[in-house]
Amino acid sequence: MNEDPDFNINDQWILSKRGRKNTVNPRKPYAWLVEKERTASGRLEDTAIIFLTNRECSFHCLMCDLWKNTTNVSIPAGAIPKQIEWALKQLPEARNLKLYNSGSFFDERAIPEEDYKSIASLVKNFETVIVESHPRLINEKCLIFRDMLKPDLQIALGLETVHTEVLRKLNKQMTLEDFRNSVSFLTQHGILSRAFILLRPPFLSESEGIFWAERSIDFAFSAGVECCTVIPVRAGNGAMDLLMEKNYFAQPDILSLETVLEYGIRLNSGRVFADVWDLGMFSSCKKCIDKRTNRLITLNLNQKITSPIRCTCSS
Ligand code: SF4
Ligand SMILES: [Zn+2]
Repeated sequence: MNEDPDFNINDQWILSKRGRKNTVNPRKPYAWLVEKERTASGRLEDTAIIFLTNRECSFHCLMCDLWKNTTNVSIPAGAIPKQIEWALKQLPEARNLKLYNSGSFFDERAIPEEDYKSIASLVKNFETVIVESHPRLINEKCLIFRDMLKPDLQIALGLETVHTEVLRKLNKQMTLEDFRNSVSFLTQHGILSRAFILLRPPFLSESEGIFWAERSIDFAFSAGVECCTVIPVRAGNGAMDLLMEKNYFAQPDILSLETVLEYGIRLNSGRVFADVWDLGMFSSCKKCIDKRTNRLITLNLNQKITSPIRCTCSS
């Protein structure tokens, strides 16, 4: 695996590699669903997820493909509450709600503060509301929103990796200190946080990918997060495809995701989940992919280690 690219990875380079965005409608979320999740208190509960349509994130991280379902300009005040209202009518009842906006909930250019009150009123019957944010956008605005909410607020923050050189190359514009400070701020104010952690970002071999994902879980829990979600890094956003072509990046194997998830669950420091979206792309073995996917889902739900899958691909 090549480590040092002979080009500068910055906003301009990343943006220049992008393809087209999908067509989205600012009056509707771009996706919505309900899934089961183990809660912090250990119950299995339905969690609704609304993927809000809004202006693309102000950051441009190397591995991010969330821009595909965003608008180029800010959407009008009132549009986000309308999207939530519409989605809640489509969705079955659930106790918890994730409002994911392909960026940061507390980015004023994505979700205007004047919408907080209507959002809080629409979600008042949930027990928990989970939003996502770049760690550097954690500040008093989170408390303003929290104070309007009846449900508990949780905030998901991208830690990505504690490999500092790779973190810099990811163009996340964040230090580990920024992450730690944001988690402490939230903890001091009684807000639970969860960390998104990448499995095998660019410039790492498969074994280094496992090692740094595990160290990132250690760091996230020591910083005070309650929960970690491990996300296998994929190509598909232009920049990552080019890095893959030039041997700076390869997608991780599903076996590594199992290894890291087992490590995280065994720590017993908080919930650890694996992102199980489209896992087929992380396996070349048709014989065991379904079994491995089901095992990962079971590990996510029960937070208990089950027997490993035996297959010729892992012997
Ligand atoms: S902060 Fe999050 S949403 Fe924004 S570019 Fe980075 S990974 Fe994507
Ligand atoms: Zn197999």
